[in-house]
Order: sequence, then structure tokens, then C-alpha cells
Amino acid sequence: MHEDSHQDEWSLETLAIRAGHHRTFEQEHSEPIFPTSSFVYESAAEAARKFGGKEPGNVYSRFTNPTVHTFERRLAALEGGERCVATSSGMAAILSTALALLSSGDEIVASRSLFGSTVSLFDKYLGKFGITTRYVELSNMAAWEEAMSPNTKLMFAETPSNPLSEVADIAALAALAKRSGALLAIDNCFLTPALQKPIALGADLVIHSATKYLDGQGRAVGGAVVGKHDVLEEVFGVVRTCGPCMSPFNAWIFTKGLETLSLRMKAHCENAFTLAHWLDQHPAVTRVYYSGLEAHPQHALAKQQQQGFGAVLGFEVKGGQEGAWQVIDATRMLSITGNLGDVKTTITHPATTTHGRLSDAQKEAAGISPGLIRVAVGLESQEDIQRDLARGLDALAAQ
Ligand SMILES: *Cc1c(COP(=O)(O)O)cnc(C)c1O
Repeated sequence: MHEDSHQDEWSLETLAIRAGHHRTFEQEHSEPIFPTSSFVYESAAEAARKFGGKEPGNVYSRFTNPTVHTFERRLAALEGGERCVATSSGMAAILSTALALLSSGDEIVASRSLFGSTVSLFDKYLGKFGITTRYVELSNMAAWEEAMSPNTKLMFAETPSNPLSEVADIAALAALAKRSGALLAIDNCFLTPALQKPIALGADLVIHSATKYLDGQGRAVGGAVVGKHDVLEEVFGVVRTCGPCMSPFNAWIFTKGLETLSLRMKAHCENAFTLAHWLDQHPAVTRVYYSGLEAHPQHALAKQQQQGFGAVLGFEVKGGQEGAWQVIDATRMLSITGNLGDVKTTITHPATTTHGRLSDAQKEAAGISPGLIRVAVGLESQEDIQRDLARGLDALAAQ
């Protein structure tokens, strides 16, 4: 019996716990791990059928692996996609998508506020093969429209953006993609399917760094692409041939991570919502970037498009870089690190870490000011997180 044979009736909470597990003859209750590189056959004829694709079945774990397949089926169900292909990292998911869809001379139109390595991948590596990328302001539909050309094959956006929580209208981007004959890919790392379903809004592809909230506990690096069968068959071809596949052990971690996704994301959102409102009235804080605040320029859109505001927020303190470093160094519990999507709250100074490679002019254009701090709010008690930040902020306010 397949755990997910009634999947059509299930809500997201149930899918996250039960979808994708096809029980073996051992009748295990919890999802097993298959740490094997290859598979064996009863006969030469069976081997020939499996290798030739005439009969479904596993051949080699760079191609398919049952543990990885469980994770793929579960994430596809959560995102509402036909198929998912897991990869060794989030960057491998983006690279495999690009290799599958693009050829020399093709163009990408992407939001400017992307994850740093995504920009390097597009400019430095895809650029070597004659694929060019134009960057536009995430929430400016006119700019997207203007950047499109007959050669645009892929639109790529990360919404909400990091660390300023800018929000793009996914349905409007999807309509533009359709009109232009391009595919729309949404990097859904920051909200996950628990809070945002890009495919239901018209996106063609969803990209994940499973490293972040899908695991949620900082244990493994992985990624995934979700979408329609035909496009995913191309992505699968790249992963199968070029090799950025997910390991069975990591797939098992991510599968178990998904089981608590919905609860975790709700709790992350609650902690972040309270913290953002507290920061917003603190005398040492000059500005808070969080789409859950009514003053946020895309608050209404975020409310309509998302089932929550997420847990990554930016705020500016007085005193520029010195003030920001003072607040960060006064923390005793928060982890000073560039990572996010973890039960442990993390804090970082984007201008000198995650966005440190940008020139001063690029930082200014991207809104990365010297006084900006990013917090990815975890699941410790809200009071403890707040107290840890209050130490430095109160001292700064008194200066
Ligand atoms: C971390 C991250 C990635 C890259 O994922 P890796 O698993 O680190 O390769 C891509 N996009 C976003 C938004 C991320 O936060």
C-alpha cells in the first residue's frame, strides 16, 4: 500500500508527513534509507530492460535512488508540481535548470536582489557560454517587461528578497512569461510551500535550497527543482548525466525535515512578526524591512500572495557600520553567521559579509546600507531573542 494513495484529499500538513513514502515489503513505518550506489537484477534480460528504460526501476544512484525519490515525491506534492528532481545543493538546482533550458545566445531576465552565488553563476559561468542576464528591480513590473526580448527564455526571481523583504507579484510575472514564451522560475527558499505556492500562481518552476527551511535544522546541503513533467525530464537528464545528485542520507534528512515544515514555519513567522514590531518602535532602529509591517510598500501583496510573512528581516540602526557591529557583538545567544532557515536565530551584517563583494555603488543600489543588520528569526523563545538584541540596541540608543 502506498502511503500517498489518498494524496488528492490531503492538506499541506498531511502531505508533509505522509506523501511520497512507498512502503517496502518490510512494512516499515518510518521512511528507510537506501545507502547503495547500484542495484542488482534477477537476470540479464531484466538488467537489459531496466537499463534500456523499458521497465521502471533503479539502475544507479546518480540516476535514481528510492530515498531520494521519496523526498522528490513529497516536495512535488507540497509545491503542487508534477515532478521534482533533487540536487546536491540549491546552486546545483539552479545550474541544472539553466543547463537544461538554455543555449548560447539565450537570455535570462532576473531580479537584482538575488542570492549572491546565483548572480555569480549567471554572470561568470553562464556568461562564458554566451548566455546573458539582465537584472531588474524585483517589484517593478514595467522594468521586467522592458527587459524582455525575443531571446529571453528564463525569468528568475526570488520573492521575498533578502535581506530587504521586497515582494514580487508572481501571477503578474507568470502572465508576462506566458506572453513572451519564456519560463518563470521562482526561488522559494525563504517561504517554502508552507507559506507560498508559486506554481498555483502560474510559475513554471520552483527552485529550492533544501539547506534552508526544508531541513530547517542546519544539518545538510541540498536542493530541488519542481515543475511540469516535460521540463523536469530535461533537468533530470542534466542531473543524471552531469552528476549533481542528492545523496540518500541527505534525502532522508530532508524528508524527515519536511514532516515538521508547516509547524516550524508558523512558529518562525510568529517570532519574526513580534520581533519586527518591537524593532520598529526601538529608538536605536531607524528602519525595519519586513513585509508583515503595514508600512512595507508591498504589504498588501504579501498578505494576498503569501500565507505568512516569513522570518528573515532587515533593520537599520543608527551609527552606520559601527552601530551595527556594536549590536551584533553585544549578542550572546544569536549565531553570528550568514546562514538562515534554521531553528537557531542567526544575525549578520550584509554589507561586510553576504554582500561584501559588491562595490559601494552596487550596495547603495541594492539598499545594503552600512547600518543594515539581517536577522533570520529562529525558534528560541521570542523573549530570549529580543533580550539578546536589546542589550546592544539599548546601549546604542543611550549613546
Ligand atoms: C542558500 C540559497 C541558495 C543556494 O543554496 P545552497 O544550498 O547553498 O547551494 C539559493 N537561493 C537562496 C535564496 C538561498 O538562500
